Amino acid sequence: MIYLDNAATTKTDPKVVEAMLPYFSEFYGNPSSIYKIAGESKKAITKGREQIAQVLGAKTEEIYFTAGGTEADNWALKAAFEAYKGKGNHIITTKIEHHAILHTCEYLEKNYGARITYLDVDADGVISLEELEKAITPETILISVMFANNEIGTIQPVKAIGEIAKKHGVLFHTDAVQAFGQVPINVDELNIDMLSSSGHKINGPKGIGFLYIRKGVKIRSFVHGGAQERKRRAGTENVPGIVGYGVAAQLAADTMAECTAKEIELRDYMIGRLKSEVPSCKLNGHPEKRLPNNVNVSFEFIEGESLLIMLDMAGICASSGSACTSGSLDPSHVLLAIGLPHEIAHGSLRLTLSAETAKEDIDFTVDKVKEIVEKLRGMSPLYEDYKAGKTKSIIETRY
Ligand SMILES: *Cc1c(COP(=O)(O)O)cnc(C)c1O
Repeated sequence: MIYLDNAATTKTDPKVVEAMLPYFSEFYGNPSSIYKIAGESKKAITKGREQIAQVLGAKTEEIYFTAGGTEADNWALKAAFEAYKGKGNHIITTKIEHHAILHTCEYLEKNYGARITYLDVDADGVISLEELEKAITPETILISVMFANNEIGTIQPVKAIGEIAKKHGVLFHTDAVQAFGQVPINVDELNIDMLSSSGHKINGPKGIGFLYIRKGVKIRSFVHGGAQERKRRAGTENVPGIVGYGVAAQLAADTMAECTAKEIELRDYMIGRLKSEVPSCKLNGHPEKRLPNNVNVSFEFIEGESLLIMLDMAGICASSGSACTSGSLDPSHVLLAIGLPHEIAHGSLRLTLSAETAKEDIDFTVDKVKEIVEKLRGMSPLYEDYKAGKTKSIIETRY
């Protein structure tokens, strides 16, 4: 099997599993209890929090564990909206956010009278800083712009966004689920007030995430109950998850330079081969400002779903959009936001590499993609018309 869907989830690192194991059946005490094994759980949580805070340049007490990235995104938006309603009801976000942000915004709009500005992106998936600044009003309480996109890999100008937010006294939240562990992030240098992350996207366990909340940001508790997480997120802590997440974050930070250099080389090699060897193929997302492990391409005259099924039969795991949107027939909102026509968006393929991906895996995958695209085009009446010179290729004429 060749696993090229690391934006959907990653393999838990064996070192992470090893670190977690004692916290299931040996040190299983509830961290809120007072006896000795409970103390072990409590210490483990503190260590996990320290490891994560260190990677971000944050204070340990600014890290709040959640059940994943989705919960962290929900918390940031809903609780900031409530805490700052005295100032206003306006939130600025983008059209290419993950559904954890977009659907939360829609919920606040429908039920609580929030006013949401959804910023457009350019053809590479980058927001306009001028449009962002123009959208700010005295009622704006929050800017939520993702660090890096999960489908097309584009990295936003986060530092400049943080500066604009600071200048106007508006909170800045970023969904960094794809970026944390892949890109260096320092919350002070980037003026980030809140940041969401998830364990299973960085070779850690599933069902654990965190929300970084800068000291001084007024934010309500999200889950009510016990006094865990400084009374802001109740519920017995996921001790093994936190231990694994801390180790995964540290490993990611320690190996980042080496891993990303290798991934960028393979990524660009793969993009180069696909673009030069498959006719009517287009790269989606910014060519340079993109995640080290992300390849997203569109092939005209084919259906991405058929391509995925045939890749699966060849032992290759890939994705056509995000895992959350596949299963629906609508093309991805991200691909539409960068201006792709429906028929091009439908023929898209996302391949996301890991540190374990080898050049042979890339070559095997590109060879298979070429073969399958050719086969699928052979069955397409549109492609027949194109071959006969009756219609033009959109990709060849427009891009
Ligand atoms: C995966 C992902 C999420 C959701 O995280 P979960 O931990 O799976 O809930 C949110 N935002 C982005 C950008 C993601 O890639």
